[in-house]
Amino acid sequence: MPTWFVTGGAGFIGGNFVLDAVRRGVKVVNLDALTYAGNLDTLQSLQGDARHVFVHGDIGDAALVSGLLAEHRPDAVINFAAESHVDRSIGGPTAFVQTNVVGTLSLLEHARDYWRSLEGDAASGFRFLHVSTDEVYGSLGDTGKFTEATPFAPNSPYSASKAASDHLVRAFHHTYGLPVLTTNCSNNYGPYQFPEKLIPLMIAKALAGEPLPVYGDGRNVRDWLFVEDHCSAIRRVLEAGDVGETYNVGGDAERQNLEVVRTLCALLDQRRPPSDGRKRESLITFVKDRPGHDRRYAVDASKLKNALGWAPAVTFEEGMARTVDWYLDNQPWVDRVLDGSYRLERIGQA
Ligand code: NAD
Repeated sequence: MPTWFVTGGAGFIGGNFVLDAVRRGVKVVNLDALTYAGNLDTLQSLQGDARHVFVHGDIGDAALVSGLLAEHRPDAVINFAAESHVDRSIGGPTAFVQTNVVGTLSLLEHARDYWRSLEGDAASGFRFLHVSTDEVYGSLGDTGKFTEATPFAPNSPYSASKAASDHLVRAFHHTYGLPVLTTNCSNNYGPYQFPEKLIPLMIAKALAGEPLPVYGDGRNVRDWLFVEDHCSAIRRVLEAGDVGETYNVGGDAERQNLEVVRTLCALLDQRRPPSDGRKRESLITFVKDRPGHDRRYAVDASKLKNALGWAPAVTFEEGMARTVDWYLDNQPWVDRVLDGSYRLERIGQA
């Protein structure tokens, strides 16, 4: 049974990844600082499962990280931990640099020292996989796609901090030989996403009959990927990726934000017809654009597809329907986030 040291595994993507990995028989040591974005409710089904060891702590806590690596002797480190919300990075960029840059640097140093202590197959098989975003590449015009060769041009404090962490990961390979892999993925959606991000935010507001705030003219384009497909891409890169390489991950599902919101409204209208008979689309309200709002992201994932045989399994239409159904079926998870009670779980957490 392999052991993976996962950081940020109480967040959206990390949580989905951990649930799936444990189901597949992997032992997971899950280090998460439980910021506002960390939610132990997501991991509730793993309670009492010896294959999941949850540790409440910071990736920047050197003594904790080196102690955990020495104790659990993982085969891989997979770094999801990050401050991840662009709007929050505009209001307060410091936390983004602290976790995404300084924290990742500290994690890299301890992973390197741990890797150097390994011998034989354990040393040659070890991997440090860094989970990153397509936002490091900046913004596109109406055509073209980001490839792994696209120069970094981050436009928000969030993407700048992720770009810095990607550079550090690369440098640890070139300077110290650390066997690293990096994935740069497009926008994710699916179960357990914190309702500050576009899709779960719009679902929550639409169900509450509140205005649906869409930035600018709503024509900003993102490439959307169902979170399960991101997790399968990470697993594939981990098992077969070439050390030192970066891999773009995308869903070939470019949609304007307005289109995404309209799709959600239509799905909700079908499943929970509005009591006043008014289509939820009528709740859409255009609001002042986000400063520095990137116009278009599109990801060319052909390297991952051609070299490693990965492909997304879930279409945008299927993924959106599954996401809406998940939020409708898991209203208590959402309610506990919205009323703040999900944070009470952390009291007394080791
Ligand atoms: P998230 O905000 O839902 O989760 C982040 C998790 O990291 C939380 O559980 C939080 O408590 C934890 N964390 C934050 N600071 C920490 C620290 N200092 N030490 C330990 N844990 C800490 O984010 P997400 O959407 O799941 O994204 C996960 C990763 O994937 C991030 O690195 C993000 O940049 C990347 N990514 C996200 C998307 C997306 O669409 N959400 C797309 C591509 C890449």
